[in-house]
Amino acid sequence: MHKMNPEELAKLSQQLEGSLHTDDLTRTIYATDASVYRKIPLAVAYPKNALDIQKIIRFASKYHVPIIPRTAGTSLAGQVVGEGIIVDVSKHLNRIIEIDAVNKTVVVEPGVVRDELNYHLKEFGLFFAPNTSTTNRCMVGGMVGNNSSGTTSIRYGVTRDKILELDCLLADGSEVSFKNLNPIEFQQKTKLKTLEGKLYQSIFNELSSDAVQNQIKTYFPKPEIHRRNTGYAVDALLENAVFGDSEKPFNFSKLMAGSEGTLAFTTKIKLQLDDLPPANNIMVVSHFDSIEKSMNAVLVAMKHRLYSCEMLDKVILDCTKNNPVQLKNRFFISGDPKAIMMFEVASHTPEDAEIQAENLLSVLKQSGFSYADVTLKGNEINQAIELRKAGLGLLGNMIGDRKAVACIEDTAVSLKDLPSYIKEFSELMDRFGQEAVYYAHAGAGELHLRPILDLKKSGDVRLFREITQAVADLVQKYKGSMSGEHGDGIVRSEFIPQMVGKAN
Ligand SMILES: Cc1cc2nc3c(=O)[nH]c(=O)nc-3n(C[C@H](O)[C@H](O)[C@H](O)COP(=O)(O)OP(=O)(O)OC[C@H]3O[C@@H](n4cnc5c(N)ncnc54)[C@H](O)[C@@H]3O)c2cc1C
Repeated sequence: MHKMNPEELAKLSQQLEGSLHTDDLTRTIYATDASVYRKIPLAVAYPKNALDIQKIIRFASKYHVPIIPRTAGTSLAGQVVGEGIIVDVSKHLNRIIEIDAVNKTVVVEPGVVRDELNYHLKEFGLFFAPNTSTTNRCMVGGMVGNNSSGTTSIRYGVTRDKILELDCLLADGSEVSFKNLNPIEFQQKTKLKTLEGKLYQSIFNELSSDAVQNQIKTYFPKPEIHRRNTGYAVDALLENAVFGDSEKPFNFSKLMAGSEGTLAFTTKIKLQLDDLPPANNIMVVSHFDSIEKSMNAVLVAMKHRLYSCEMLDKVILDCTKNNPVQLKNRFFISGDPKAIMMFEVASHTPEDAEIQAENLLSVLKQSGFSYADVTLKGNEINQAIELRKAGLGLLGNMIGDRKAVACIEDTAVSLKDLPSYIKEFSELMDRFGQEAVYYAHAGAGELHLRPILDLKKSGDVRLFREITQAVADLVQKYKGSMSGEHGDGIVRSEFIPQMVGKAN
């Protein structure tokens, strides 16, 4: 990185309506996210508007300084840790610009908190569906950056599926709007004599080639894995009228989702909303004496119309035992299960919800995998969801230097591969002398698995790397996704060529 003269930064600061900070305290606060990494940035900016961001981009380009867009900083893989200028848009770019209840869309700035957005949408009977465990703080810009998802993905999809338009600034500071284009509109874009035009020309040259398309189809995760956040999502640019057989329009936003702030800076986001889920929901919580049995039950349950399908293991459940807040949310736990599965059904009428829950219960009982099945309703469900949401955070609070570390924590495989993948994964963890922690969006084939390591010890740092490599090999064997939702960041970026093919 260019050795920066403080006067140059001071000049930039004077040009901004917002502010730029180079003091040690601010830079130290911004040295981490929720990953294992720490890097002190050169400076931290709070832009007031898109014009400020444009000035920062032009400055960064002139002096060859990286910029790191940031919203809430809850990334788990080191996406918002870096030595350049952190550009935090959470302070000023946090307006909900327009709610269109008729067309079920909303336009927001990137710093809008996901739960706050849904609070405002509720009166219209609408919501923004992607649902991370961090919804009370994570922001739409970061959700787009990481293509985030959560418990709702099996019914509503991931963030990528919800983006209609993105207003962005490119590397030269020019403004673009990425939205649906038919083949004629696409060709018009390729004729522009701007950086935007170059983007359309180069993607057209690349993806028009059958060889390139085949390469992508061969190496990217199996098509049925809907949670896939490894590498740039060029595979998502093939399903449209420009490059494929589909009638769908081309939209560069598909590629922007999950690009982790490395392709363009987003200043405005238009999202497709969904009707609020049916009000009558019932949760069946099945208890298992082995992880394997819980995974087999997923295959049975997923034949039903589930709204969520989530798994917690004993290690996580035990973390909630010592937490005064979560203790009261454990009321439904029966015995000392190795794993529980939370299966949620919902309907517009209470009667139909009851029928769905009874049908589900009956097949679960017949399959014989669980030793207890508990039914939850109303606020009981909220308590169970709270317990599940708290799980991953509580893991980070393990007492002592040994921590459940994020490196292989959200691999995803095809649902039908899940039981055998889990089995091989457990054997692999045994070989490394690890007790794995299982926390899964099981219905989506995604597992949150974390080795417990003391990264203050060099031996464990070596293990961190070796375990990540071994899991990458295993995921590749199943043609899965090294990350289902958390993204590549620093921790997984070196595995991208292995996972999606060098040429891709
Ligand atoms: C305890 C815990 C649980 C989690 N559970 C889940 C989960 O269930 N599902 C899930 O998907 N994730 C989960 N995450 C990861 C994380 O919360 C999500 O990825 C979240 O959506 C990130 O939002 P953020 O506002 O914190 O973004 P940040 O971390 O600030 O940024 C995320 C990415 O977006 C980029 N970005 C931000 N703003 C812009 C912009 N304006 N323009 C361009 N790029 C931008 C950043 O550069 C970065 O690459 C979890 C994290 C933690 C700590």
